[in-house]
Amino acid sequence: MHVKFWGTRGSIAKPGPTTVRYGGNTSCVEVRSARGTLVIIDCGTGAHSLGQSLIAGGVKGLRGHILISHTHWDHIQGIPFIAPLFVAGTQWDIYGPRGLHGSLREALAGQMQYTYFPVTPDQFGATIRYHDLVEGAFNIDDIKVSAHYLNHPALTLGYRLEADGATVVYSCDHEPHSQWLASGHGEILGQDLGHVEFIKQADLLIHDAQYTAAEYPAKMGWGHSSVEYAVRLGEYAQVRRLALTHHDPLRDDDAVDRMLHEIKTGLRARSSALDVFAAMEGQIVEVEPHPIGEHTQGVQAFRAMTPLQPALSERWVLLGIGDAGIAAMLGEAIRAEGIRAQFFSDVGEVEGFDGERGPSVIVLEHSKWRVDGLETCRVIRHLTGNEVPVVMIATQANIAAGAAAGVTDWLVNPFSESYARTKIRAWVLRTECRWIRANVPDNEDERIASLQVLNILDTEAEDRFDRLTRLAAALFHVPMSSITFVDRDRQWHKSQLGCGHNDTSRDAAFCSHVVHNREPLVVSDTFHDSRFADNPLVTHGPRIRFYAGYPLILANGNCVGTFCLLDTRPRMLGHSDLERLRDLADLTLRELSSSA
Ligand SMILES: [Zn+2]
Ligand SMILES: [Zn+2]
Repeated sequence: MHVKFWGTRGSIAKPGPTTVRYGGNTSCVEVRSARGTLVIIDCGTGAHSLGQSLIAGGVKGLRGHILISHTHWDHIQGIPFIAPLFVAGTQWDIYGPRGLHGSLREALAGQMQYTYFPVTPDQFGATIRYHDLVEGAFNIDDIKVSAHYLNHPALTLGYRLEADGATVVYSCDHEPHSQWLASGHGEILGQDLGHVEFIKQADLLIHDAQYTAAEYPAKMGWGHSSVEYAVRLGEYAQVRRLALTHHDPLRDDDAVDRMLHEIKTGLRARSSALDVFAAMEGQIVEVEPHPIGEHTQGVQAFRAMTPLQPALSERWVLLGIGDAGIAAMLGEAIRAEGIRAQFFSDVGEVEGFDGERGPSVIVLEHSKWRVDGLETCRVIRHLTGNEVPVVMIATQANIAAGAAAGVTDWLVNPFSESYARTKIRAWVLRTECRWIRANVPDNEDERIASLQVLNILDTEAEDRFDRLTRLAAALFHVPMSSITFVDRDRQWHKSQLGCGHNDTSRDAAFCSHVVHNREPLVVSDTFHDSRFADNPLVTHGPRIRFYAGYPLILANGNCVGTFCLLDTRPRMLGHSDLERLRDLADLTLRELSSSA
């Protein structure tokens, strides 16, 4: 295969004297098979020059294929500037991930709305066919294309192209699934192993390398790789050549040279077989077929992971808590966030804190029998004014009385330490906490009683349930599926496939929402859902992006749990899918009633 880089820059075009060697145009790669099949991967600003070169070569009867990784600007901005798209008689197939909120064509047409651009897609003279893709494989003439979801804030596909005995993989934009891998060290697990499988033994891997390991902690969640990660996975997957691309707009040519020098020194030191280069605009790579059995390099030694800590050490939280257990747990949660915690015993101590050196948040406790937190809050408001947020811990929120006393928010007990951590962090940073725990149903005692009658909690795994979760995973193509019961303060899995744990705190459990609402719940993309975006099951393992849960409602009317599907990628569930999920829930209920 013949590969030419037309755009190697990430995020935004950055032309000028400091980027003249590696190039200033955004993502665009041309691939041609020996038979001449033309595939263009991504159409950033580099696509303009590519279009001009096609015109210069003569476009009579031209047929081309465009693979779009995702519809962020730097991957589609060049589309309206590909001159042959305006030439009648040329034929184009454009492929890209099916958007969550519309087709690929609609997404691409969005940037050509009259407000942004004078020409609409209807004015393209060429014959254009649009193809909405999900993960899978298909053929473009003599090239076999496999599409694989990447880890990026938008729905993004990587492409593996195989033709003429050679393999080219394009993987932009992508972030390590396990953040510790950005350092270039640590065990490769789970979804990152899936990524290894996708890039495995590529003759040319074109990979996102926007950041360095040192830069990555500040860019976590932005959807890009460190160069160290790209190299680590490339070596592990026995890739032959690795082209680093999606260069950061702030990285000038000399900085790319320095980065590359450092990487190559490391590769030499460990006698690595991997050939790494930084992709240059205009560069041509002829990809030769892969001689079988050439790679002999084994698995690299694993190193321990390094946790990444946010810097919040300047801030502190003032606590007035009587209950020793809650005080200890909150103190632990606050310190775990890198924030200082200080307890007071007399409310008079609060006087004299000014805005500069004062606490970021005050946490108080209110209980009917023990302590009148509302009164304490009124005194604090009197002494310090209204600036500092006051959070009240209680077994029930009393919004009206709280507002009158000056309470900013409530933390309803019982809660898990990670829930308290996330809430406190949001209060200290004055950001929205996008994690809402489900309310407890009104008939909770009755519900728990009928759950206990089932005698199922903490029993051994059973094949009659496991076969249902296996079936669900196969039917819906999801990596995780579970039969779950919501106990008083936890969620417990009777059967789980791919979730990797048996207990979850009730405030983190998605299924608690289903149990409360007694209705199916589908979350297409947790990142865009204010109930779940900061949930630890989303921000950390297993990194849930998609959830669908169907309630398990017993004959006596009590909802005890769910049958649920989970994925690390956003996805949609159609009406008929929901019906199939109901069938699985019904089968589960049948098993439950047969054992009761
Ligand atoms: Zn990008
Ligand atoms: Zn992107």
